[in-house]
Amino acid sequence: MKVYISADIEGVCGVTHFDEATLSKEESRWAREQMTAEVAAACEGALQAGAKEVWVKDAHDTGRNIMASKLPEGVRLVRGWSRHPMMMMQELDATFDAAVMIGYHSRASAAGNPLSHTMSGGIVHLLINGQPSSEFLINSYAAATQHVPVALVSGDQGLCDDVKQLNSHITTVAVKQGVGASTVNIHPATATTRIKDGVFSALRGDLRACQVPLPGHFTVEIKYRDHSQAYVGGFFPGARQVEPTTIAFDCDEYFEVLRLLLFVL
Ligand SMILES: [Zn+2]
Repeated sequence: MKVYISADIEGVCGVTHFDEATLSKEESRWAREQMTAEVAAACEGALQAGAKEVWVKDAHDTGRNIMASKLPEGVRLVRGWSRHPMMMMQELDATFDAAVMIGYHSRASAAGNPLSHTMSGGIVHLLINGQPSSEFLINSYAAATQHVPVALVSGDQGLCDDVKQLNSHITTVAVKQGVGASTVNIHPATATTRIKDGVFSALRGDLRACQVPLPGHFTVEIKYRDHSQAYVGGFFPGARQVEPTTIAFDCDEYFEVLRLLLFVL
């Protein structure tokens, strides 16, 4: 079994403010330690479930947050950004049996996390086939292009509710709940225990049921905070500016959606 782990930080236990999610800020140190601990717990759960290979993508900001020496030996870590359109799922291909998402967070404009956003802070919403989309949805479809199911997602409660709505078979671990600009958190050690046990059970369970079906056609709408971004985005091949702050795009292949997002977000 080969397992892929994509890790963000805004959905990590305790993380509440962007200063805690910014590498250059002193406050980010403990947050990066907890992100590392949650990813390490997911790796351990995967290895105990029988994974022979575990790959981790550090998928937050600079892509240089996870402390590699604290991951179990044998794990491969993808750091930084190649700028491949798979972005937060870089290096994922059809040889993987399952994907896991750690530290994921509520989408732009959702109340589930004080740090809610979708890929960029400049987005009011990103609709895929009319559905307000989180990074979880974007990356689940990316995994689906390689026929890789999503076994487990950890993050805030609001995101976990969205995950269950999309596919109730995907295991979720809620490590905190957003309340306005604050968060109510479980203990960090409880978070890592639940993630480790959750990954173990999910990988031993029915992975095929966790497959997210890929639509045959995609209509994408992106609403920006700043109209000037929509003006530029409207020049991406196939995209059009439909309102001062909004662009629209249609395609059949999901890779074309990922290519769009790479250039217009
Ligand atoms: Zn992030």
